[in-house]
Amino acid sequence: MKELMVASGNKGKLREFRELLRGVVDTVLSPADFPGLPEVEEDGDSFEANALKKARSAAVFTGMPVLADDSGLSVEYLHGRPGAHSARFAGEGASDADNNALLLRELAGVPTEMRGAAFHCVIALCRPDGICLTFDGKLSGTMLEEARGAGGFGYDPLFLVPEYGQTLSELPLEIKNAISHRGRAMQQLKAALAGEGKE
Ligand code: IMP
Repeated sequence: MKELMVASGNKGKLREFRELLRGVVDTVLSPADFPGLPEVEEDGDSFEANALKKARSAAVFTGMPVLADDSGLSVEYLHGRPGAHSARFAGEGASDADNNALLLRELAGVPTEMRGAAFHCVIALCRPDGICLTFDGKLSGTMLEEARGAGGFGYDPLFLVPEYGQTLSELPLEIKNAISHRGRAMQQLKAALAGEGKE
């Protein structure tokens, strides 16, 4: 595929998508390349609904294929929260540090065996005519009691991947991308594109 727009303003996600799309797409564009791109309110009741809304709106506006994801962290002890509200867990405009601090407060004193969590991701790929495909991925892990590592974004420093004994912030990007919720959804997307014999 020659050009694809990734409809996300999240720098951490964009960095991962650029890496994941290497060799599949020649030029990856982002909202920064399209002044006036309408903001989309993420008011759907599922990751899929929000991903579709973001990708479809941008594909119709730009006239090119667009990929968007909606993702988040579900913590078992918190009955699935922050879920679809992961980006704004600590309030509108909250930073990653604010969200992580709130999560640690909500999990204070909770023993390790009750700190299970999973990242979920739904990716939507839409054409300018509004026809879309969706793909999903999940990564299970455990929420730590303090942050570890400097890489990644969002809740990565608190998310231990038991198989590696490291947080997503400590793992190199190529390993995160191979196992993550976003990476797994992308593997399906790539397989679907290859199956359709698309460029
Ligand atoms: P979205 O832009 O509504 O999809 O927001 C997703 C939010 O979920 C991000 O702002 C992060 O807080 C969290 N999140 C999603 N994927 C990841 C990840 O790979 N690592 C850490 N946090 C993530």
